[in-house]
Amino acid sequence: MKINFNNPFFFKDTKKNINQVFDKKPRETTGGKFFFKKCNNFLEKKLKTKKSIITNSCTSALEISALLLDIKKDDEIIMPSYTFVSTANAFVLRGAKPVFAEIKAEDLNIDETKIEKLITKKTKAIVAVHYAGVPCEMDILKKIAVKNNLYLIEDAAQAIFSKYKKKYCGTIGDIGCLSFHETKNITSCEGGALLINNRKFLKKASIICNKGTDREFFNKNLKKYYSWKDIGSSFIPSEITCSILYSQFKNYQFILNRRKKIWKEYKKEFASLNSELITGQINPKNKIIHNYHMYYMIAKSKKVRDRILKLLAKKNIISTFHYIPLHLSFAGKKFGIKRVNLSLTEELSNKIFRLPLWIGINHKYVILKLKEIIKNF
Ligand SMILES: *Cc1c(COP(=O)(O)O)cnc(C)c1O
Repeated sequence: MKINFNNPFFFKDTKKNINQVFDKKPRETTGGKFFFKKCNNFLEKKLKTKKSIITNSCTSALEISALLLDIKKDDEIIMPSYTFVSTANAFVLRGAKPVFAEIKAEDLNIDETKIEKLITKKTKAIVAVHYAGVPCEMDILKKIAVKNNLYLIEDAAQAIFSKYKKKYCGTIGDIGCLSFHETKNITSCEGGALLINNRKFLKKASIICNKGTDREFFNKNLKKYYSWKDIGSSFIPSEITCSILYSQFKNYQFILNRRKKIWKEYKKEFASLNSELITGQINPKNKIIHNYHMYYMIAKSKKVRDRILKLLAKKNIISTFHYIPLHLSFAGKKFGIKRVNLSLTEELSNKIFRLPLWIGINHKYVILKLKEIIKNF
C-alpha cells in the first residue's frame, strides 16, 4: 500500500458535465459560456460577493488583482514570507516589491501586530494569506488597511468556504483569490476564481479578463462592436474546466464532510499525543470556521522533522513540508524586501510537516504508523 500526499476526488457527474459541453448544439467550448456562468452564480450566491470571475488559476486571479490595483514599479506590497510564490510573483510581474512580514506560531498566518511598522509611502496593499484554510485576523487587517489607505487582498487559495465571523474568506478584503488546483479542497484540475468585493473594480475587471476589450458589454448587446480598451490578458478557462468545477460545487458539502472527518481524527489522535517530538495542529479560535484543508504538525527540530518524513516514506506514506520562506529564496532576495526579523517564519518552515488528507485515504493507517514511529523514535 502506498499513501500519496494528494489524490484529487471527482464525482460521477463530472463526465456527464464534460459530455454536455460537447453534445450541446451549437457547441460552446470557450470561456464565458454556460458552465462558467453557473460556477460564478454559485460563488456569488453562496459566498455573497459582488462578482465572481472563474479564472485559469489562483495565480491568474492574483495577477488580475495586481492589474486592478494599478500596481507600478517600486510599489510595495506587504505579505507573509511564508506563502506560495504566486502571492509575490503577481506583484513582481508589475515591477513592485514584496515586503515580507512575520507570521504567528498559533496558525502560521501573517502577524497583524507586526504590520504597521512595515508601511511606507510606497506601500499599496496588504495580502492576507489564509494558511491551511484558517482565516487571518481580518478585522484588524482591515482596520490597518483603512487607516493607512491601503488595499486589502485575500489570497484565499486554501480557504474556500472558511469563515471569519459571519463572512466567507475571499469576500472580506477588496479582492479575494481562490484556487481550484488539484491539491485544493475543490478542484477543476487547474483553476481559480477572482472575487470582487469593492465595486470600483467591477468594470476594469471585465475589461482585463476579456483580453483588454469591452467584449462583455458587446455580448450583452450593450455595444455594437467591441474594441481594445486597456491592458488585459487571457485569464478565463474553457468550458471543460468550468464543467468539472460545477460538479465539485454541487457536491461541496460531501467534500467538506469527508475532509472534516479525517481532520478531526488526526486532531483527536495527535493533539493529545503528549510527545515532546511533535505537536499537532489545534482547533482554530471560536469565531472561525475552517475548511479542513490541511492537517499539519510541528516537530521539535528540523532534524526530527526530516527523520519523521523519511520514516513515513519507508512505510510508503508521503508527507511533505513547505514553504521555503520567500525571503530566503533566490528570487525572494532579488525581488523582495526584508525589513524585519523573520525568525519565526524560518523556524516553523524548518519544523512543519503536513499529513496526507484526501477523500478515500486510509488515514487510520497514517495514524497507526506515525504513532509507531514516535513511540520507537
Ligand atoms: C495553491 C496556492 C496558490 C496558487 O494557486 P494556483 O491555482 O495553483 O495558481 C497561491 N497561493 C496559495 C497560498 C496557495 O496555496
